[in-house]
Amino acid sequence: MSDFRQRLTSVILLTIATVGLWLALGAVTALAFYSFALLLLVIHHLRYLTALDKWLQTPAPTVTTLPDATGAWGDVFARLARLMRNQNQNQQQLSTELERLRRATSAMPEGVVILDETDRIEWCNPVAEQHFGIDFNRDTGQQITYLVRQPQFAEYLTTRNYSEPLIVRQSRQQELILSLQLIPYGNKQKLLISRDITRLERVEIMRRDFVANVSHELRTPLTVIGGFLETLSEEKQVGSGIGKRALTLMTDQTMRMQRLIEDLLALSRLENTQNPVREESINVAEMLRELYHEAQSLSAGRHHISLNLDTDAQLRGSSDELRSAFSNLVSNAVRYTADGGKIALSWGIHDGEGQFSVQDSGIGIEANHLPRLTERFYRVDRSRSRETGGTGLGLAIVKHVLSRHQAQLEIVSEPGKGSRFSVRFPADRLIMQPVE
Ligand code: ADP
Repeated sequence: MSDFRQRLTSVILLTIATVGLWLALGAVTALAFYSFALLLLVIHHLRYLTALDKWLQTPAPTVTTLPDATGAWGDVFARLARLMRNQNQNQQQLSTELERLRRATSAMPEGVVILDETDRIEWCNPVAEQHFGIDFNRDTGQQITYLVRQPQFAEYLTTRNYSEPLIVRQSRQQELILSLQLIPYGNKQKLLISRDITRLERVEIMRRDFVANVSHELRTPLTVIGGFLETLSEEKQVGSGIGKRALTLMTDQTMRMQRLIEDLLALSRLENTQNPVREESINVAEMLRELYHEAQSLSAGRHHISLNLDTDAQLRGSSDELRSAFSNLVSNAVRYTADGGKIALSWGIHDGEGQFSVQDSGIGIEANHLPRLTERFYRVDRSRSRETGGTGLGLAIVKHVLSRHQAQLEIVSEPGKGSRFSVRFPADRLIMQPVE
């Protein structure tokens, strides 16, 4: 029988007994008996209700302090005890898991900081404490930007574009170079991962310095050799045989080496983070007119070259760097387009962004080469690059210049049909000319 039916039966029995009494001894006795029985029942329930209320008010109610009871209240308390035991078990399991997770993240070589939706520190591991010079107990709830004070970090945090990590030099510890990566998750929370890349950066700086120094050291002897070769080729007694051919070959190779050295030096200047971008107003239209004339002299009438200037908007940036980037794209179009082909240079505004593009009807590039095209010395056709005087560094220089100007390079190409190299500049790099 269910608990409810059992309890209902006892109330019915009591009522039947009262009716019996009514018939035997009269209404007054029966009602007095019934009222007394109900009073006892109310007192019984009140007693246990008070005990339950008292237990609930204790600071830490536990199973062991649950009051003893019989009957319906006994069942309620037993269920409550079971519920609490289950809850305790779950809580214990949860804290074991949490402790295991905490130990795992503490053992990680990376710093981990959990930030809430307002970028305040919720939790961090010991490595993060070391990296940022923070104390978990003291700094929980602090705004992360109060502790990581580099302006680039505050900018990185607000841009909400976390696809690339941010490299910062920790000002509290001069020697520490950190790579910071933000990963949004859950309800607007963020995970901040910090990696110590001091050693890696040092090796990278050594590599850069080595290439720059070697290039610099080779520059003078090459200039001397080039000078002598030029003088020699003007001499009458060289004749026209093997000597002349050797001289032409030596001059070509020396010039190639000189171009290579100049490109390597240009790359190391661009890679040097201590060398900030000059913020000049650049008259793009004028620069493109010059590049158009250069392209015509490079093509020597072999191509049909056009220039479309859809805007007179200027650009904010380094004139030398952008000129060299644009010039690389234009000379590539001339070098990789067969005679009789078309080349179009254009400057315009698309979706609020400045866009420079070079379209050619040249040899084109297969899709599998496109992702690697801006790597140093990556060439689709090595011999064609050499024949046309390429160093294999042109697009690497373009990539560096553009990233220093927060610009994007877009390449669309089809083998046999041609290529389109487009450069998109963010709106804040544009200087719009006032309407007269
Ligand atoms: P390179 O000095 O060899 O031209 P770049 O870095 O300028 O070096 O270009 C890398 C490679 O990309 C080139 O070797 C060439 O294979 C390919 N490339 C660049 N521009 C074009 C283009 N307009 N048309 C076809 N291929 C191109």
